[in-house]
Amino acid sequence: MFDSIAARIDARQRISVDDARWLFQHATDDQLQDLASRVRARFHPPDRATYLVMGIVNYTNVCVARCDYCAFYRFPGDPDTYLLSEEQVARRIAGIISLGGTMVSFNGGFHPHLRIEDYTRLFQGLRRRFPDAITYYEMTVAEFMFICKRTGISYAEGARRFAESGTKWISGGGAEVLADSFRLRHSPGKYKVEDFYEAQAAVLDAGLGSTATMVIGFDETLDERLEHIDRLRRFQDSRLQPGVRGALASFLCWTYKPYNTELGGEELPTSDYLRWLAVCRIFLDNFEHIRTSVLTRNEDALLGLRYGADDFDLPTEDEVTEKAGATISLEFERILDSARKLGFTPVHRAPLPVAGQAA
Ligand code: SF4
Repeated sequence: MFDSIAARIDARQRISVDDARWLFQHATDDQLQDLASRVRARFHPPDRATYLVMGIVNYTNVCVARCDYCAFYRFPGDPDTYLLSEEQVARRIAGIISLGGTMVSFNGGFHPHLRIEDYTRLFQGLRRRFPDAITYYEMTVAEFMFICKRTGISYAEGARRFAESGTKWISGGGAEVLADSFRLRHSPGKYKVEDFYEAQAAVLDAGLGSTATMVIGFDETLDERLEHIDRLRRFQDSRLQPGVRGALASFLCWTYKPYNTELGGEELPTSDYLRWLAVCRIFLDNFEHIRTSVLTRNEDALLGLRYGADDFDLPTEDEVTEKAGATISLEFERILDSARKLGFTPVHRAPLPVAGQAA
């Protein structure tokens, strides 16, 4: 089986879902590294990896979605809720810039009192304060969906209004495992998978950039993981057709942190993460960038460069994962040295260009 899959990869033919399942279950670590590196080499020099410094600003912890894997949210009326002012967010961004950050991602809860105008006003204010210094991922797709619903507008209208107000990027965060069976078990109030892709399409159609993400290590089955990447590959295919505006810029996989959550559980072993990362690199042949997660795996994430990843963030802050057990180190040189010891030259990069626009 391995030889047959390897021959197809060398011939630049796609692997099937069954091939991906076989690879994850039966291939050796060396075989996975080998195949993932062959696909990686279609897009990137084999010994080069790229990175940037970024911070995630969690502007509110108020959320009505009640995902059982989340240690971050507080329900409206709880005593320790917060909503940051523009001034407070600006101070956080200044801190991220002082650490060398060039990107800020926003990730908050599903706050029931905020409407689209609250977001467009906040981001316009921030862009005025820090002109050109920072690329903003202004919200996750999951938050975008909630904002549109609370405002009573379609995703197309929401994306149009964000684009008009100056938004460039929305991130593919909030995806976790995109299988409705998973969502029903853990996050029934968040969205359905069909709905998620409808929102992604609206964002890209409006000329905004977006990304793909996945989180593993809950109790998801292998079939649910495969469903996620199979549908994602088909979605990306649909975005790469002539005349269609924009495709997803990258795929990032990270791992669930189980501490202080209702769901609980144990952390996924690094070997499982790396093997899955390799399967994603091989299967998602229509993604140029596969990103490994320093935020949730620390230096072990750099091993992902041997399993097909080509890019990573050096995070400065993220309350969502830190509340669930992530530990962030600002010793960036030490982390970069881990990549060098593995034989990669880490190259600081500019934020990715929005598809169809200049960087
Ligand atoms: S993961 Fe996001 S949507 Fe779910 S409860 Fe936490 S903050 Fe809310």
